[in-house]
Amino acid sequence: MSTTQDLVTAADSHLYQNYGPRSVVLERGQGSFVWDTEGRRYLDLYAGIAVSVLGHAHPGLTQAICAQAGKLLHQTNYFLTMPNVRLAQRLCALTGMERAFFCNSGTEATEAALKLVRRHFYDLGQTERFRVIAFDNAFHGRTLGALSLTGQAKYKEGFGPVGGVTHVPFGDLEATARAMGPDVAAIITEPIQAEGGIHVAPAGFLAGLRRLCTESGAFLIMDEIQTGMGRTGEAFLFSQAEDVRPDVVTMAKALGGGVPIGAMLCDGALAAALPPGSHGTTFGGNPLASAAALATLTAFEEEGLLERSRTLGEQLTRRLDDIVVRRPAVVARRGVGLLQGLVLADGIVPKEALTRLRDAGVLVTIAGSNVVRFTPALTISSKELDEGLDIVDRVLGDIPA
Ligand SMILES: *Cc1c(COP(=O)(O)O)cnc(C)c1O
Repeated sequence: MSTTQDLVTAADSHLYQNYGPRSVVLERGQGSFVWDTEGRRYLDLYAGIAVSVLGHAHPGLTQAICAQAGKLLHQTNYFLTMPNVRLAQRLCALTGMERAFFCNSGTEATEAALKLVRRHFYDLGQTERFRVIAFDNAFHGRTLGALSLTGQAKYKEGFGPVGGVTHVPFGDLEATARAMGPDVAAIITEPIQAEGGIHVAPAGFLAGLRRLCTESGAFLIMDEIQTGMGRTGEAFLFSQAEDVRPDVVTMAKALGGGVPIGAMLCDGALAAALPPGSHGTTFGGNPLASAAALATLTAFEEEGLLERSRTLGEQLTRRLDDIVVRRPAVVARRGVGLLQGLVLADGIVPKEALTRLRDAGVLVTIAGSNVVRFTPALTISSKELDEGLDIVDRVLGDIPA
């Protein structure tokens, strides 16, 4: 039996089956290419769902991880470590937020934000003020707290009641205003609903949310877990814009360049809401993950990745628009910069399109129910991006609409 077959068989028997069957075993990566155990090469246009911003085996990131692993891998929250403190400083400088709490994933960053705003009002004696407004089709994570904010039934089915959240249509400012009340502690939103199918917030919507929050004394939580870290051409595009400035920003995914890390950053008004002992996690802010995040941010500066993200984003937009015009299997393009989707025509089975693309040597993912999502590394070359999109163009052209 080949190694691949052996691993697939063992996975079928021993891995928990919550992800569905998988038949490709990936072994190594270099830049925007990955190889499977059969030696087949794939062009990576999804970067582990917007995680591997520097591509695979980036020298600076690899070196920083190795150096930190040989120095101090883990510490508890009883002590400070230099990488973690420096990372907090750097992220606060980048976002204009005052404080950073570190955790290990996006869902944990969401949990922290949720506990933060609830506890803030509790400490003010407003114990009934814990409701949060979130949006239909949103994705904020899968622990029960984060799941309560996620606005898609498919993620919630069978897990029992979660509460304290009102969902309203994304982009509908009037519906949001109607849902507000003195019991609302916060509004949470993604600037672009990514998992939900790449829906960009309509013009003025985020600023409108900011106004609603300011008027009622509620907090605005911006989930930049997928949109952050340069994906749209700015470090944290939406949190930096003056008229939409949130009170809380959550980040994860690309933050550690592939090493698991999440962060919840908040404004000074919330600085004391979670007093010592009220929240924490064993691995949160560990030196390895912090060093990886610092190395990722350093690569952004040294390699001019924001500028690069903008240029590549224009190229991706142009090429996808061209595919929409010429290929009946595709009906629209949505997105910003290097977070883009192609909407498949009715009757096309997204999973099949994905498999065809993979077999042709390109890795992408599905967002929402019928959107082929592109989230390449910011280090991909223009030539590699074109090469991948040539394949996408051809494969989608071969699918009968
Ligand atoms: C991925 C994602 C999350 C959840 O992050 P995990 O690390 O998978 O827990 C939350 N919000 C958004 C916008 C995401 O894209």
